[in-house]
Amino acid sequence: MSKVLIVEDEKHLADGLRFNLEAEGYDVEIAADGETALELLIGSPQQFHLVVLDVMLPGKNGFDVAAELREAGQFVPILMLTARNRAEDVLKGFEAGADDYLPKPFELAILMARLRGLLRRREWFHLSQETASRANGSDQFRFADKMIDFAELELRAGDRVEKLTLMEADLLRYLVRHEGKTVSRRNILEEVWGLHEDTDTRAIDNFIARLRKLIEDEPATPRHLLTVRGVGYRFVANPV
Ligand code: CA
Repeated sequence: MSKVLIVEDEKHLADGLRFNLEAEGYDVEIAADGETALELLIGSPQQFHLVVLDVMLPGKNGFDVAAELREAGQFVPILMLTARNRAEDVLKGFEAGADDYLPKPFELAILMARLRGLLRRREWFHLSQETASRANGSDQFRFADKMIDFAELELRAGDRVEKLTLMEADLLRYLVRHEGKTVSRRNILEEVWGLHEDTDTRAIDNFIARLRKLIEDEPATPRHLLTVRGVGYRFVANPV
């Protein structure tokens, strides 16, 4: 049974979600603030399969909670509930380490679909790992002296091992798949993050900066993840 932690201070909302999730067969726990959520999640890392995290919380907000979890090496999938559908808030959530988002107010059926999607993705990553080891192949991409392990959600650079969120892995996979080609910010927003509204696509640059810290030796002078002025980005596996 999948265990879900709901982090939401508005009691009627949290209780309503619990009622509906339990009806669908999920095991549910509620944390009314970020501090409690962090204690639960960092204290017993394997206990929860998924977190529904509201952005608007007393004390630490949802962005802080997600960022602290990732810093603590906890990579449980996070569905973030944003108050507004603004691209900046959404990207801020992804930067903090969220895997998906849903703007409030939302329809229950959509929340359920997103939860199932995240759990499937998580299973898919684990399955691809098993399939890869059975086939004696792997779901990895090597470039320069680095290796992205999509099954383990890790980036390896020498002795350094960095954990990736599902979202970071998705974005890296997208860039790798289009290796050597320019992808526009709009392509990334639409095809990786599923954002279709007319948004300020410059907001994506912060997220790219985060990836550069992971994959570049010198993030300020990138060799792999290049900016194409006025258009977007290009990933180059083996720069000359
Ligand atoms: Ca709230």
